[in-house]
Amino acid sequence: MSAPFAASVITLYPEAFPGVLGVSLIGKALAEQRWTLETIDLRPFGDGPHRKVDDAPAGGGPGLVMRPDVAAAALDSVTRSGRPVLFPSPRGKPLTQTMVKAWATGPGLILLCGRFEGLDERVIAARGMEEVCVGDAVLMGGEAAAQLILEATVRLLPRVLGNEASATEESFEGGLLEHPQFTKPRVWENLPTPDVLLSGDHAAVDAWRQAERERVTRERRPDLWAQRKPG
Ligand code: SAH
Repeated sequence: MSAPFAASVITLYPEAFPGVLGVSLIGKALAEQRWTLETIDLRPFGDGPHRKVDDAPAGGGPGLVMRPDVAAAALDSVTRSGRPVLFPSPRGKPLTQTMVKAWATGPGLILLCGRFEGLDERVIAARGMEEVCVGDAVLMGGEAAAQLILEATVRLLPRVLGNEASATEESFEGGLLEHPQFTKPRVWENLPTPDVLLSGDHAAVDAWRQAERERVTRERRPDLWAQRKPG
């Protein structure tokens, strides 16, 4: 068997991990070593007796910037093993299911969690880091973003989710959002479940769901709708 998907996270807050990655099926898969999670504390790589990891921005202005030498020393302490190195950042490429799927078929991921005003630009380029944005809003640090990226990736690993079909019929597959979902009770607060879903006619259910996926995507995500591939 090939080595399990290996995640290495460099952070000033190792206590934030595994966080959400420790619960449910992903947590169970972690306990069973179907994927591995290593956290590397950035602090010991800091400079001087106070292990300083940041300094004032060149050119002035508020806040502090993470130092390139410190980030590089931490990164260089990790065996890369062909893994992409990600830097969660509001300035990064927006995270998509396509990116997550590609990472899930690879050997793993290395993530460096930013703090303060961000990371010195030079180390991003020098270490070939990919900047990834998890939403057009600013977080305090990269830890929650790293967990989000890993959660989306690890759930696609074989034998993590259990029900493989649920990973192929969901939002973003085929460039569409998911159709609306219903369960019991059949009528709730005078609101019925659509008849077609109770008809037992699988072809009719499939057709209804496809039409709903298209309607919801058109209404909510004109950007996805415009990009969808015909067919
Ligand atoms: N001054 C920066 C924001 C720094 S927030 C800017 O305006 O771009 C501190 C750290 O939190 C970042 O370095 C990054 O690692 C993380 N972070 C914040 N928002 C994020 C987002 N939307 N996506 C991914 N990472 C984010």
